[in-house]
Amino acid sequence: QANGAQQTAQSSCQSLDASLEEEVKAFLINEDELHTYDDLTKVSPVTPSTVLKCLQARYSAKVFYTHAGCTLVALNPFQPIPHLYSLDVMKEYHCAPQPQEFKPHIFIVAEEAYRNVQGQVEPTNQSLVVSGESGAGKTWTSRCLMKYYATIAAPSSSQKCQDTVERIERRVLDSNPIMEAFGNASTLRNNNSSRFGKYIQLQLDRCVPFMLLSENSVVVLFEIILLTMTRVLLACLFIHSFVFLYPSIHSFIAVCCSGHSCWLEHPFKRISWRKPEWLSRLLMKGISTYFTRQANVQLQLKSRFLNFHMGSCDFSEMENVILPRLVTLHVFPQTGFLQNTADLLGVPSEELEACLRLRSLRAGKQSVVLKPCSQAECSVRRDCLAKLIYAHVFDWLVACINKSMCADTSRWCNFIGLLDVYGFECFTSNNLEQLCINYANEKLQQHFVAHYLKAQQEDYVSEGLAWSFIQYQDNQSCLDLIEGSPAGVFSLLNEECRLNRPSDAKQFRMRLEKELSSNACVSWDKFSRQPDFTVLHYAGKVSYQIEGMMEKNKDPVPPELVHLLQQSQDSLLQSFFTEHSTEDSSGRGPSKVVTVVSKFKNSLESLMKILHSTTPHYTRCIKPNPDCRPLTFKKEEVINQLEACGIVETINISAAGFPIRIPYLCFLQRYGLIVNSKMFHRSRGENGLDVDKDTLLREVTRILNAVLRRHSLDPCGDAGGRTRSSMVHCGRTKVFMTHSMLELLEGQRDRER
Ligand code: ADP
Ligand code: MG
Repeated sequence: QANGAQQTAQSSCQSLDASLEEEVKAFLINEDELHTYDDLTKVSPVTPSTVLKCLQARYSAKVFYTHAGCTLVALNPFQPIPHLYSLDVMKEYHCAPQPQEFKPHIFIVAEEAYRNVQGQVEPTNQSLVVSGESGAGKTWTSRCLMKYYATIAAPSSSQKCQDTVERIERRVLDSNPIMEAFGNASTLRNNNSSRFGKYIQLQLDRCVPFMLLSENSVVVLFEIILLTMTRVLLACLFIHSFVFLYPSIHSFIAVCCSGHSCWLEHPFKRISWRKPEWLSRLLMKGISTYFTRQANVQLQLKSRFLNFHMGSCDFSEMENVILPRLVTLHVFPQTGFLQNTADLLGVPSEELEACLRLRSLRAGKQSVVLKPCSQAECSVRRDCLAKLIYAHVFDWLVACINKSMCADTSRWCNFIGLLDVYGFECFTSNNLEQLCINYANEKLQQHFVAHYLKAQQEDYVSEGLAWSFIQYQDNQSCLDLIEGSPAGVFSLLNEECRLNRPSDAKQFRMRLEKELSSNACVSWDKFSRQPDFTVLHYAGKVSYQIEGMMEKNKDPVPPELVHLLQQSQDSLLQSFFTEHSTEDSSGRGPSKVVTVVSKFKNSLESLMKILHSTTPHYTRCIKPNPDCRPLTFKKEEVINQLEACGIVETINISAAGFPIRIPYLCFLQRYGLIVNSKMFHRSRGENGLDVDKDTLLREVTRILNAVLRRHSLDPCGDAGGRTRSSMVHCGRTKVFMTHSMLELLEGQRDRER
């Protein structure tokens, strides 16, 4: 698999180099100036390679933030850049009348959200959506944002205020390692990839004016929204971080930190593991934060049984062992591990053993027979038990963090929410996990497009411009393909699971082809060895393997396991399972299947609901090289991420229609000299300009027409005589134009000066 990924990277790099030359030639008029492009919408033509070239030039010039229209692109320097985040810089952005006019920075995003959330007329909740792959700088960005708010909320530099700032900051930041310990895993591309979506709300106390906020009035609430409920999606996490490959990081840390050094020795002593830098920091700090203090005892206990034994509990096959009871036992768990696991779970080891080995089957109306499972089935049941507990512990952990952070909820009014999400995924082999993750990204993309176009549309309407300039195809048909009902991948998958028959990947693929072939976002590779389907996502094509998808979607929990855990002597563990109905576990009556995709869709919908009620701000973090080396820009690494976050789409949307809007007076003050306008001189004079709107408009039109004619372009007027061409329109109060019109104006202005 790793080889495959490497090959893909190599081939995309080759094609990149070939196409790069051609495309870049077109726009590289002056390569030395590339790094001065503060906004990628100015790049022309907009292609992945031209955008890449521009970002590379900026990165070499140590410029790490770039606008992409309404989105901010943040390149990770992998090196501290102290002057970039200093207190003075924060103040500069905070105090500026128009911070947008400053150099691109995460503080522009922060300040914009801050001004909106306390808007005098109608304060609105804000969402800061930070995306990017693991290591791209999402946490860093979150930290910057939190630091910014904490700092401006306590503007005085007195020691007390400084302490407050630090405490607020620490609240958020200290919980991060714990969340990561349990929620991150090693994947092919990242050894510390988040497997959950995190939405942090910075709540504002309604009783305190924003400027007087103190520690008690800024409360931070974690809402873990995605992936927490779906055990299948946690499977990857489970496998990578607990059982086989990388026991080094993640939950292991929780164990170290809770002081159980014995767990360091067993069974991982023999495995060489890379100690992450933050682990050392944590160990030094002793992680005795408010959170662990509170939950310490339980945490120790849970983390013990969560993984290290259970994952090692192997089954060995034995021939013809007949026990004097009803059943023939073929498979036995290894006793040492079994006893330890049972002790930790607080259940009798015989019962644990029986649960793992025996399946209950209905025979007639009343009786139930126990059937021995095969070795493979036993392993599936073992993993299922671990995942089941794991999912509950994760939710419990989030609840604990929330509880330790929340103040009086009745006093909250507005919030700034911070969404940290995993990005689009495309591996050599993709299954249900990737489908869900990419579906979430499609949803976010749609939200982004809808929000942005809506904002543009509102501006156009209020300025009296027709809306028809923007032709943009959104990603609805891809979403229809996935979530559509009755014909969508999710519905068909659910239907298949409800039929409760042995799943047949080939048959299901035929069904999909029959039902979905009218959708242009799906294609079929007739020659692939395994049945699959390919989805054309906004960020690229991904082929999904069908084999195993139905099982993953069903993700059944053997009722015996739930029964077992309900009887646990461990009160916390037992409390996780009290709500489960025990009706079905005896095998009577059909159990109601809540599938993975249904659960995922629901949790995503609740996230979208929150997002829809807020004003979003998008930041895309980019990891410039896979090895976290300072100031190293690897083209192939970056281009993959640019494609995955749909940056070209973003720029196109941002540049659609007329991205430049200049109020009339500002326009006159800048370009009036082109026609040697008397009004221009007056507007710059001491007394300012005192003319009515129509006169001002006439003068603006005169300037525009002069420039257009000089370039042999036809300035068609509308009924009111206002300029209206494909490059520029006059609205009620502003001139709307394209970048090329701006260039003409600027060029003319330079010549006249
Ligand atoms: P993510 O949360 O996306 O997985 P992180 O925020 O943890 O990634 O970033 C990984 C590392 O990159 C950080 O530990 C930090 O050293 C470095 N880093 C990220 N952003 C910046 C930045 N703006 N300036 C300096 N270093 C950064
Ligand atoms: Mg992170």
